[in-house]
Amino acid sequence: MAQGFLDGLLMAARPFWQGPMILFFHGVDTAITDSRVQMLHMPRDQFVRFMTSLRRRHRVIGVDELAACLESGTSPPRNAVVLTFDDGYVNNLTVVAPIMQSLGLPWSVYISTRHVEESPRFPSYIARAALYYTERAEASLPGFSEKISLRTPGERDRAYGEVSVLLKTESLAGVEKLCLELQALMPADRWQELNHRFSSDQVMNWEQVRQLKEAGALIGAHCHDHAILHQAQGEDEVRRQVTLSQSLIARQVGECRHFVFPNGKPSDICPAALDAVRQAGFRTGMTTVPGFITPSAAPLLLPRFSFQTMREMRYGCLRQRLSWVAGRRPAASPVEG
Ligand SMILES: [Zn+2]
Repeated sequence: MAQGFLDGLLMAARPFWQGPMILFFHGVDTAITDSRVQMLHMPRDQFVRFMTSLRRRHRVIGVDELAACLESGTSPPRNAVVLTFDDGYVNNLTVVAPIMQSLGLPWSVYISTRHVEESPRFPSYIARAALYYTERAEASLPGFSEKISLRTPGERDRAYGEVSVLLKTESLAGVEKLCLELQALMPADRWQELNHRFSSDQVMNWEQVRQLKEAGALIGAHCHDHAILHQAQGEDEVRRQVTLSQSLIARQVGECRHFVFPNGKPSDICPAALDAVRQAGFRTGMTTVPGFITPSAAPLLLPRFSFQTMREMRYGCLRQRLSWVAGRRPAASPVEG
């Protein structure tokens, strides 16, 4: 039944499949025990079924092949799909790599080099774990004029939403300050326990990144501190994030010519960030703006679809069909913009 669902998903998307596309993922794990905290990770069974379906219907190409097409002005095959993974979680090596090897699929993984070097958890994980698991009924956090109430699950959801906005718009120093306060909401032994339970959010070290490359994944850059490259970071910091991540990967793993902008919305990519990626000689830069790859696509601002967006496409298509049946004007395509 689930296989039928996934085939259906691909079939439903087909009339609106306008060309080659890049998909992005974060992690895949066998044990998802709390999808609020582990929201970036897909259950393994679901991922295997999705990749198997995808392989039957599409030509999965590597990012180098995509870059070569864009550079020579030729279109990638209409049914081409590029598979990308952001952040560099350990499960990319332990869970995803064996699946990709057995299916013979090319893929690429974009790592945040300070996280590889020092293995801290990402700020968004710290926020989710702290706000969903602290025993406190309220919290005082930098950037908030009043105490945040955490008395009900709904209040905790809202608190995570508000903290998440701050994490995406503050400078690196602001994010670090906020993370320290979030960490202070629970004692160290509770953090240890949760980090063990949510091992899905553990990032690879250099040895594991090298093993991942040997297992066939292409390694790309995703900044040094996973900094979101908006205006508030300052131009020098933005350039440092891009060049330092590239040079560390080059030293530890080998040449690095592909980049993914953290968070990847238009407001997360200031002009200096785009310029730094161009000057560093990256062949591709990828965003999280949904869209297909057209022959005129800008190689350093490539659109990507998330798996969740594909699911929304399916429901969007269904809505569109129902509106035709009901004799109403069809809704706009859910993948526009
Ligand atoms: Zn990321």
